[in-house]
Amino acid sequence: MTDNNELRFDGAVAVITGAGRGLGAAHARLLAARGAMVVVNDVGGSLDGSADEGASPAQELVAEITAAGGHAVADHHDVSTPESAAQIVQTAIDEFGRIDIVVNNAGILRDKTFHQLDPADMQKVLDVHLYGSAWVTRAAWPHLREQNGGRVVMTTSVAGYLGNFGQANYASAKAGLIGLTKTLAIEGGRRNIKVNAIAPGARTRMTEQVLGPLADRLDPSFVSPVVAMLAHESCPLNGELLLAAGGRVARVHSAQTRGWFDEAPTPESVLANVDTILDPTDAPVVEAVEQEFAVLTDWLGSTD
Ligand code: NAD
Repeated sequence: MTDNNELRFDGAVAVITGAGRGLGAAHARLLAARGAMVVVNDVGGSLDGSADEGASPAQELVAEITAAGGHAVADHHDVSTPESAAQIVQTAIDEFGRIDIVVNNAGILRDKTFHQLDPADMQKVLDVHLYGSAWVTRAAWPHLREQNGGRVVMTTSVAGYLGNFGQANYASAKAGLIGLTKTLAIEGGRRNIKVNAIAPGARTRMTEQVLGPLADRLDPSFVSPVVAMLAHESCPLNGELLLAAGGRVARVHSAQTRGWFDEAPTPESVLANVDTILDPTDAPVVEAVEQEFAVLTDWLGSTD
């Protein structure tokens, strides 16, 4: 790509949550380098969200961006309550006068097998990932609606649609984010608000123990161009989920097998036809609820 068609963010204001380190910091560096004014939000917490480590990664990143000639401000509010999330958006309005982009990225881990999972470990992970993304987006939403334009990027995970051992809380939160993305895309699309999600893979403190030999190939900066494209006003996508890791980008979509039909199914006949029900041959992409009804109508209609 030549400089002439570089995707620029001059005049745009972005809130990036959990941006003091890891993936969020990489996103903030890239958007700021391309002209965005960035609210670098981060509570500076420990990996499990149990304690404030006293560090200020958000402030350090803001100093770095500012030294490089960019515009950024630090914000230390917690994403996980409606009141505090609203303060993050207010920081954008107070400091830069508007908000155009929300990148919901803040996250914690409290991995435990389900039989050891305390209610608090379930609640806290849902609070930060799912509710935090909803609250920050909700605070930004009236501004985006009023100006007839905005971009929201959610950060989900492969665990959200495939599940992962020891991650019942995290996978539930990340699956919830997929539903939130799809619904906000439908509602926001009418006002040029596009809402998409990424399922990233990158070496950060969250993953350094689990990536193995691939770790050196998975710098967070490989993910940020995908976020930047989704955050840009020229983004053609809405309601999509993109995998992004190490430079590979792919679409994750819902497919529906051709399925099996019987006018009078019984538990026994369903069991006898499990292989047909699961057969992935000729499994079309399903993109909207209406399509589900159309498929069912086809089946039921075919019995006339
Ligand atoms: P990270 O721990 O390096 O960064 C997460 C940041 O969020 C931290 O700086 C933390 O202080 C901040 N944070 C935590 N709770 C917060 C709160 N309540 N309010 C504001 N900030 C808060 O981890 P990362 O790998 O950069 O993760 C970023 C996002 O990407 C997370 O949502 C994570 O679940 C997701 N993700 C990461 C990977 C990966 O491979 N790294 C894979 C799938 C999903």
